[in-house]
Amino acid sequence: MTLNLYNTLTRKKEPFEPLRKGKVGMYVCGPTVYDLAHIGNARPIIVFDVLYRILIRSYGIENVQYVRNITDIDDKINNAALEKGISIDKITEPTIEAFHQDISELNALPPTIEPRATDNVSEMIQLIQELIKRNHAYEVNGHVIFDVQSDPKYGSLSGQNLEQILSGVRVEVASYKRSPADFVLWKPSDKNLPGWDSPWGRGRPGWHIECSAMSRKHIGDCIDIHGGGLDLIFPHHENERAQSECSFPESRFVRYWIHNGYLTVNGEKMSKSLGNFVTIRDALCNLPGEAVRLFILGSHYRAPIDWNERQLDQARSSINRLYTSLRNVKDLNVHESYQIPSDIVIDALEDDLNTPAALTEIYRLASLLNKESSCDKLERLKGALISSAQLLGLLDQDINSWFLDSKETKNISTDEIDTLILKRNKARKDRDFEEADHIRGILDEKGIILEDSEHGTKWRWKR
Ligand SMILES: [Zn+2]
Repeated sequence: MTLNLYNTLTRKKEPFEPLRKGKVGMYVCGPTVYDLAHIGNARPIIVFDVLYRILIRSYGIENVQYVRNITDIDDKINNAALEKGISIDKITEPTIEAFHQDISELNALPPTIEPRATDNVSEMIQLIQELIKRNHAYEVNGHVIFDVQSDPKYGSLSGQNLEQILSGVRVEVASYKRSPADFVLWKPSDKNLPGWDSPWGRGRPGWHIECSAMSRKHIGDCIDIHGGGLDLIFPHHENERAQSECSFPESRFVRYWIHNGYLTVNGEKMSKSLGNFVTIRDALCNLPGEAVRLFILGSHYRAPIDWNERQLDQARSSINRLYTSLRNVKDLNVHESYQIPSDIVIDALEDDLNTPAALTEIYRLASLLNKESSCDKLERLKGALISSAQLLGLLDQDINSWFLDSKETKNISTDEIDTLILKRNKARKDRDFEEADHIRGILDEKGIILEDSEHGTKWRWKR
């Protein structure tokens, strides 16, 4: 079977064919680094990591260019820096580091390249100049604005016409825009804000132009696969498409637009104001990274998914069940020729990333492994199970360390951990740092990492 993917642009499943035979370019919108990533951000990371693994299997890692950017200039970052009275890199650097830690715990492979917006401002300026030259953008008082009416295809990705888009635009629109749907490519920066010199004065880029410039630089005028969450289709991806195709009309910007569905928490949209905001870090306090992965992959990537205790418990016990099935055969060596994924798993994944069907087959292999006694069959089953699971980024840990690290086997309860943390906090308050360090040491030996912040102390299991 060949890979079939649901294309948001055509609204149907299509066989995947890259523009250049044997080579694939994939671009996925990465995080805006002003705060810790949340579990909604984890979904595209995991979904596109699975797609990356499938592409690597078919094309070879050297032929897949996977670009995931980092938005490190944005008004949310500027506001956070102004609020704290520090420079933006004091916000972005630790956030990028935390992001990398979090997603490595989710067992996501690093992309081929992870460009940062601040390193690519000159490419953005060039692209904006091109849009002005081609009469798709105009300058007003240091702002450069994209003229949506100049693009007859504007709205095609999100399936709306300009009238529908205009009816959704908020009334209080900046007076410098010709049409309320026009969007900003460049805006002026006052002396308190980060800025770059440009033909329109000192300023900074808008968010959308960042992705158009970085995808062109690292993949080219035509991207095979562009990914992101459903919430990015409009306006972000619509605007990326408009900018890229209007500045380079000879090429289609993206061949396959792939979008993952929403994630809710206990049936509600996640938001800080509702108090149901879960960071990846919070999730990893109570769950191994592979359980979070299995939870996300337990639903089809285009379906909505709900983060709730019942589903998380299921994911936790499912991943343990898979590792348990391997425990009895942990010393059995698998010959290289048996280290091949099951055809059923490959077919499911190539059918628009049907991860629930792939997992069903993985569970079946695990239960066969539990019942089998013939050595040869055990070897084949173990090889198929591990190779199949690794396409989903699962069962990647050494079996001994999984059970050693697994909290089920630790002789410490969460109540005991909480009590020790309270004792340590009291010791710190009393400036008894020796005692505080001693308690940290006890917890460290039990495989527990403490993280202190102004909001208190959090703990998580070492991987
Ligand atoms: Zn983007």
